[in-house]
Amino acid sequence: MQTYLHIDNVIKQFGQFTALQQISFSIKQGEFVCFLGPSGCGKTTLLRSIAGLEPVTSGAIFQAGKEITHLPPEQRDFGIVFQSYALFPNLTVQDNIAIGLSNQGVAALECNQLVDKWLKMIGLQSEAYKYPNQLSGGQQQRVALARALALSPGLLLLDEPLSALDAKVRTHLREEICQLQRKLGITTVMVTHDQEEALAMADRIVVMNDGVIEQIGTPQEIYEKPASRFVADFVGTMNFIPTSMIDNNLMRIGEDLLSVPESLQELAISGCMFDLAVRPESLYFCAVEKANDLNNKDNSIAVNIESIEFQGAYCQVECRLWDDFSASSIYVNVPIREARKLNLSLQESRRIGFDNTQLHAYP
Ligand code: ATP
Repeated sequence: MQTYLHIDNVIKQFGQFTALQQISFSIKQGEFVCFLGPSGCGKTTLLRSIAGLEPVTSGAIFQAGKEITHLPPEQRDFGIVFQSYALFPNLTVQDNIAIGLSNQGVAALECNQLVDKWLKMIGLQSEAYKYPNQLSGGQQQRVALARALALSPGLLLLDEPLSALDAKVRTHLREEICQLQRKLGITTVMVTHDQEEALAMADRIVVMNDGVIEQIGTPQEIYEKPASRFVADFVGTMNFIPTSMIDNNLMRIGEDLLSVPESLQELAISGCMFDLAVRPESLYFCAVEKANDLNNKDNSIAVNIESIEFQGAYCQVECRLWDDFSASSIYVNVPIREARKLNLSLQESRRIGFDNTQLHAYP
């Protein structure tokens, strides 16, 4: 697919402070991309730079093959939705949607038809004559979305559009936005600090930290192959287990010796210390009869169970390396059916094994 938006070496400074450091990447036509990162990482500044609301210090931005770096916002081709809805309080729903159209000189008849089409698209036909303060948060955000899309922009920019909504409405609207985006095929950039939202909605995620891009990838790539310790830690839950290499074949975790899995062979330097990173769903409890297997045939580690939290579909079991009370917690997610069979109890000593294909190591 064709590149629609290209960011080339963009730097943004606020006085002495560098908010964006040499940012470069491209977004394809029709893609849904999320900027994800902790507060202050620069994701809003990057979105505002694309909109022309924030002049960049250096670098260039191209949209549909045309350089737009120095164009004012009104000469750029985008629609934007903010966290705060930003509707005109003195205008009805239909007038909020119509205002951009009439400002652009769209004739009254066509304007009415477009407003009707968008009211239908967002499911608010019966609220057409209401004012923003007579609508729920989710309804107001749908109006903001319709207003942004009514002018058929080439690019949709979403600045934390779901953050002000409660959990249920958020999930619902998240699906609606995805459906609408796919239906229209509109290239979309959304800023969020919510990793779940980014994983669920985006075709690709740009993970940012301190003004730099840590990784760009599909949700699955970001989750399964985090490119840095920061990404591994920020996206999803990750256990970091202190490990040392004994030789090419053996590594030590706590009191246990384990054979080095193939995925970690390149780290196999004697004496090398690293954190073994593994997600809670890639750990499992070994069968009880193997709990005292001194030959450690199933390559497991001894742990003590500290807490068991029921999470509906699974149990989150918090463990600590056996006999090491200073070590940080290791979380294991056990599917509920398995948990019933395992019959785990608090303060019990058990052994946990790893899915060797889902291991990462960070020195
Ligand atoms: P949040 O999720 O909290 O909005 P963010 O990742 O969107 O965070 P930005 O708003 O892009 O972060 O800000 C990035 C950095 O730039 C922050 O350290 C912020 O304090 C700084 N910054 C943003 N706008 C300005 C400004 N107008 N003047 C000075 N510093 C600014």
